[in-house]
Amino acid sequence: MPMIWPRLLERLASGDPVVGVEEARRWGRLEFERAVSLGIFRETEAARWIMCDVCPERHWSEVICVAGGRRMFISCPEEGSVNVEPWRLRQWRIDTGRLAEVVAKALDLSGAVRTIDLGRLFHLGRRRLAGRFRDLFLVAGDTDKLTADFEKLLRYDGWSSGVVLVPHANGCGAGAPSKLRVIDLCSVSQLADGMLTIDLDYITDCLGDDTPVRTDRSQTITAPPDAGWSEVSVVLHDTFMRVTIRGKEAERDYSQAGFRDPDQRLELLKLFAAARGTLHSDRISTVIQGDTPLRTRISRLRQLLQDLIEVDGDPIEHMKKANTYSCQFGIRLADHWGHPTPEGATWMDFSFHESPDGRLLVSVSQKQRFRARSRVNKVGPSTGEVAERDAPNGSLYSLEEMRLRTPAGKLTAEGAAFIKLVRSRGRLPRRGDDLTVLNLAKHLRDWTGVEEQPFRFSEGTDSWTALFACSSEIHPAE
Ligand SMILES: [Zn+2]
Repeated sequence: MPMIWPRLLERLASGDPVVGVEEARRWGRLEFERAVSLGIFRETEAARWIMCDVCPERHWSEVICVAGGRRMFISCPEEGSVNVEPWRLRQWRIDTGRLAEVVAKALDLSGAVRTIDLGRLFHLGRRRLAGRFRDLFLVAGDTDKLTADFEKLLRYDGWSSGVVLVPHANGCGAGAPSKLRVIDLCSVSQLADGMLTIDLDYITDCLGDDTPVRTDRSQTITAPPDAGWSEVSVVLHDTFMRVTIRGKEAERDYSQAGFRDPDQRLELLKLFAAARGTLHSDRISTVIQGDTPLRTRISRLRQLLQDLIEVDGDPIEHMKKANTYSCQFGIRLADHWGHPTPEGATWMDFSFHESPDGRLLVSVSQKQRFRARSRVNKVGPSTGEVAERDAPNGSLYSLEEMRLRTPAGKLTAEGAAFIKLVRSRGRLPRRGDDLTVLNLAKHLRDWTGVEEQPFRFSEGTDSWTALFACSSEIHPAE
C-alpha cells in the first residue's frame, strides 16, 4: 500500500508540513506526483539547509549561494566545498485547505468547505452517519493541543452532533465536548492512485454508542438528500402513522416509529396533530401531565423525529417571541374532520375546485383581499379566482371526507346542493328559507371554522350566491 498518506498525516500531526525532495522520493515518486496534481502538495521556497551526501558524516549544512545564485554549494569538513544541484533544494508544503476539500469529497459531503481557523481548522460539511445528521470537521495541524480547537468548535454555530477528524488521534480525544467525536483520519482513510477513500462504515462503528437507541422493530424513513421538513406530511392514525415525503408514502406503527407505550413524545405529537402543528407553550403546559419540563419533551420528540425521518434540519421550531412551538412539517390527526383554515381567513379567501376524480381542491388565498368587495359584489366571486386552484396551500378532499357523501356512496341533500353550487360557479337557485342551503351553510362553517355565513340570498334573482370561488372540471359552468 502506498505510504504517502500516513507519512503526510504524520507530518501534519507533528506540525511540520514541509517536505524536501529526497523525502518525497522515499515516499514514492509516482504517488507524490499524484498528490501534487491533486493539489495536496504545493511547491514552496527552496531549502536553505541540506544534508551532505558526499561524506559518511550525514551532517546538515547551510546552502551558500554565489555568483548571484547561479552557483550553490555547502562546505563539508572532509571534502571542502561541495556543489549542490538546484533540484536538491526543492520543497513542497501541504496545502491544508485543499486537503480539507479532498477529505470532504471522499466523505461525500455536499456544500463548500468552510475555514474556521485559517490553515488549520475546517468545517467539511454535513451528512447522515449512524442514524443522525452530523457535522464533520478537520484539524489539519499538530494534535498536541486540541483544546483551543474544541473551544472554537463550540463557538462555531449551528451544529449539534459532530465528528472531528484529526491526522493522528493517539488519545488526543480526551477533553472533547460530549457532542463531538474525535476520529483518527489515518486509520479510516487511504490514498492510492491519486484517490482518497474513507471508510464510512468504520466511522459509523466509532459512533456506535452514540446511535439513537431504538427497538428492533423501528424503521427509518428515507428521504431524498435535499428534502426539507416542509415537504414532509404526517397523518396520525390510531395505531400507526403515515408519512408522505414528495408524494412517497410510508407507514409505521408507533413501535416501529420508535415510540414506547405509553410515551410522552407520542402524547405531545398527537397534541401537535390536533392543533395542526402549532402550539402555544402555555396551552401545552395546561394539557400535558407529569413533571418533565416542556423544553425537554420537545427536544426528545425532535430527536425521535430526526432519527425516524431522514431529513436534515429542525422539525420543531421554537418561536421565542410568540412563545409557540411550530412543526415545520404538515401534521394532522387522521380522524380530524375539518379544514386547517389559516387565522383570519374569510369566505372570500376560499376557493373550491372540483377535480376530474370528483375530489375537491380547497385552497385559501394567503394574500390580503380587498374586503369591501364582499359588500359591493352580490353576484359572487369573479371567475378569475379559478387560477388559484394551483395554489400551493390547496388540499384535496373526497366528498366522504367532507361528510357530504355517506360511506355507502350516497350524496347527502347538502352534498347534492353543494355539488350543484360548485358546478354553477357558486350560484344556487333556491328559496330564501331553503333548509338544505341553511344546513349546508352550517356544515361548511363547522368544517372550515369560519364564523360568517358562506352564502347570500338575492331577492332579485331568487337565488343563493357563495362568497367563495367555485369551479369544476366535471361540469364546467356555461
Ligand atoms: Zn560532508
